[in-house]
Amino acid sequence: MTDSPAAVSAPVAFIGLGRMGQPMAARLVAAGFTVRGADLSPEARDAFAARSGSAFATAAEAADGADVVITMLPDGAVVRDTLLGSGAAADRLRPGALVIDMSSCAPLDTRRLAADLAERGIALVDAPVCGGVKRAVDGSLAIMAGGAPEAVARARPLLERMGSSVFATGAVGSGHACKALNKSVSAAGLQAACEAVLVAERFGVDPAVLVDVLNASTGRNNSTELKMKPHILSGSFASGFAMALMAKDVGIAADLAADLGVNADGLARTATLWAEAAALLGRNADHTEIYRYLAARERPEAEE
Ligand code: NAD
Repeated sequence: MTDSPAAVSAPVAFIGLGRMGQPMAARLVAAGFTVRGADLSPEARDAFAARSGSAFATAAEAADGADVVITMLPDGAVVRDTLLGSGAAADRLRPGALVIDMSSCAPLDTRRLAADLAERGIALVDAPVCGGVKRAVDGSLAIMAGGAPEAVARARPLLERMGSSVFATGAVGSGHACKALNKSVSAAGLQAACEAVLVAERFGVDPAVLVDVLNASTGRNNSTELKMKPHILSGSFASGFAMALMAKDVGIAADLAADLGVNADGLARTATLWAEAAALLGRNADHTEIYRYLAARERPEAEE
């Protein structure tokens, strides 16, 4: 179901106008919604104001009078602080308002946030995204929405302006769970492809030939098709998705498994490996640099 923007009478607050939030909020503006943006960064506010949105320095100012608040922030701790902690944006919302958290966060924290907001009569939908900046710009993100069916239905007209597939994943927190689990599978697939290339190379097989074999065989995955040659074998390491974000997402999935008592050894090892790589290579490293990390572990001289 796609409502017209006119169906949304009150302004939408959009908190977090960073690499993802900026183009996502811009899509809502372009679709005719009145968007009140907020970001700590003056540069982000200026960029959004130039796109015909109003921009505020605090989330509370943006949330004032809004019916719906969208958050696209670094992590769950920042989301909670913005709404209920020092940011106190929830204080500006009336009972019946809706918060849509599109950040990538830990699902059990999301459940707790939902319960705390519910005490104020505020509904929460967690609606994280997969797809990166390019798909945020063209509105083709994959969005996984968790929450009460009526709250997800209310969020859907906005979500459909930002994504081309919107999945209702179940109860609140389930969107964040699906997001983290997807990234854990993606990270494992990339790691497996990188390790296979290292072994092939050591045996004397051209890495490009191995990637061709994988892509015509059962080892094919998103990384073998879209990352190995363009970003890794080329040496560009410029996919645009940060190592730190991948490590965060895989860590969320591993913590969820542990909290639920699910024995997921492979997932735990993947999370440890990505956390170590992110710590070593730094916040600005591209996630495809996991290959450099793995290569250096096998062949320390590769880093010299
Ligand atoms: P970013 O760091 O570019 O943007 C975050 C923005 O939030 C920044 O502009 C920052 O100034 C602002 N901010 C931080 N604290 C704030 C506060 N208290 N009040 C107002 N603004 C505040 O990050 P991003 O890449 O846009 O990612 C945002 C979220 O989306 C993260 O949870 C990330 O994991 C997720 N995500 C990112 C990508 C990607 O490709 N970058 C893809 C999918 C999901």
